[in-house]
Amino acid sequence: MTTQPTLIAPNWSAPKNIFAYTTTRIGGVSGGVYRGLNVGGHVGDHEKNVAVNRAMLPEAQKIVWLNQVHGNDVVALNSNEHFAHIPKADAAITDSSTYHCAVMTADCVPILLCDSEGTQVAAVHAGWQGMYKEIIAATVARFNCEPEHLMAWIGPSICGDCYEVDRELAQRFQEYPEAVSPGKRQDKFQLDLPTVAEYQLSQIGVGRIFYSKLCTYCQADTFYSHRRATHNGQSTTGRIVSVIGLR
Ligand SMILES: [Zn+2]
Repeated sequence: MTTQPTLIAPNWSAPKNIFAYTTTRIGGVSGGVYRGLNVGGHVGDHEKNVAVNRAMLPEAQKIVWLNQVHGNDVVALNSNEHFAHIPKADAAITDSSTYHCAVMTADCVPILLCDSEGTQVAAVHAGWQGMYKEIIAATVARFNCEPEHLMAWIGPSICGDCYEVDRELAQRFQEYPEAVSPGKRQDKFQLDLPTVAEYQLSQIGVGRIFYSKLCTYCQADTFYSHRRATHNGQSTTGRIVSVIGLR
């Protein structure tokens, strides 16, 4: 069995010098609940396996990994210090080809952003907490151009049909009516995180928005899903990573 990673190229029309991919769980050397290409070093997998998996990624040496905390801090990548001292942030932005932005996810929405000139790129970890704290707007505000000159790709995440939430969480997103629908079970709701991301991106004025339309919960062989792991009685699972950089 090959350990070579199977990667997803964003289905968008970014400038030629933009380098971007999302990993899947296919490939890699991790076992058990992490089976495949787990790149999460904080989820209980063997450190050595995570290091081997990460080293297999294209341009791995340029990736700046984040300590993601479901907040709204955005780090600007501009120093080799980031490799030694992992930034605590849920989004990264750069105008340097020396550093690649990367966010890890397992149901949350990874969002990749670039400007139409191909001079700045960003990656955002957007779960419900991050979007509630408006991390997308915080990231877009760090670009040196008007939002209309930006394009965004909404990567693989849990879909609205698979993400059941309680009333309290659903109410936090009631300003996005199409993102919340009645649940399949009583007193439950379905929350569509990619649709929340789309709303926020378009409200901010991001010019072009593209979608992967891939669900991490539905496609068990391809992705890690925190919700699916929970449903299977597992307390943890692996992570994929979405990477973007300049060339
Ligand atoms: Zn789904």
